[in-house]
Amino acid sequence: MLTLTELQQQALLSLPKDDARLEIDILLARAIGKNTTFLRTWPDYQLNDEQLAQFQRELSQLQQGMPLAYILGERDFWRLSLLVNPSVLIPRPDTECVVEKVLALGQGQQWRVADLGTGSGAIALSLALEHPEWQIIATDISAESLAVAQANALKNNIHQVKFKQGSWLAPLTGLFDCIVSNPPYIANDDPHLSDLQYEPIGALVAADNGLADLRDIVRLSSDFLHKNGWLVLEHGFQQGAAVQTLLKQAGFVNIESGQDLGGNIRYSVGQKC
Ligand code: GLN
Repeated sequence: MLTLTELQQQALLSLPKDDARLEIDILLARAIGKNTTFLRTWPDYQLNDEQLAQFQRELSQLQQGMPLAYILGERDFWRLSLLVNPSVLIPRPDTECVVEKVLALGQGQQWRVADLGTGSGAIALSLALEHPEWQIIATDISAESLAVAQANALKNNIHQVKFKQGSWLAPLTGLFDCIVSNPPYIANDDPHLSDLQYEPIGALVAADNGLADLRDIVRLSSDFLHKNGWLVLEHGFQQGAAVQTLLKQAGFVNIESGQDLGGNIRYSVGQKC
C-alpha cells in the first residue's frame, strides 16, 4: 500500500511539467474525496484500491497531455464554475480581460449583447452574472458547444441568456449595443498548437494566418450594431495592428486595444459611428 506522500513523489517523477505538483495534488485529493489541505495534514493516508485506480487512470490522462480541466470536467472562470468537455475551448483567464472591457464600456447602461462563438458560455454567462438586467444572446455553430453552454447557465443559475445555433451572427435578428467574441485566431502552422491538441481545432485555428474569422466578424457586425454600439474582439498577441486595421476599414471609430494578464495585447474594440 502506498501513502499519499509516496504517490505524490512517484507521480512527480512521471510528469515533467511546470504545474505538475499542483495538478497531481488536485487529482490525489479528488480520488480520496477530500480537499488538497488533507494531503498535508494526513500524508500517511493510504488509498484503497478503488481510489488508487481512479488516481492512476487520471494521472495517465495527464501524462498523455490531457488538460486538467477536461479530466475534472470543469474550470473556474470569472465568478463561475463552468463545465467543460473537449467540444469546447477551456476558458482562459486572459478572456476575463475581455469581460472586464465589456463591463467597463457598458457601465450604467441597459444593454443588448451578443456573444459570438460562445463555446462553454464563458463570456455570455459572466456578463449575465454581472448584469441580470441585460439581454444577452449567445451563438455557436456547434450543437455540442451550445449544450455545454446551456448546462453552464443552469449550473450557475443564470436564466436570461438565450442560446442560438449558427455561424457567428447568422442566427441573430435586431440590433445590439455590444457584440463580443473570442473567435479562433491561431494560424494553422503555429507551433503553440501542439500543446493544444485536446481542444477543438475549430475553436482555435483560423485561415489566413488566424485572421479569417476575425475579418468575417468585423465585416458582418456593423449591420447588427446600434449607432455607438461596440464590437469587442479577443485576438492573438501579435494581431493588434491587423485587427485595428480591419476595424478602421469597416468604419469603426474610437478603436483601441487592451492587454491580458500577461501584459500582451489581447483584445481590440471599436465603436460604430
Ligand atoms: N488564447 C488561446 C490560446 O492561445 C486561443 C483562444 C482562441 O483561439 N480563441 O491558447
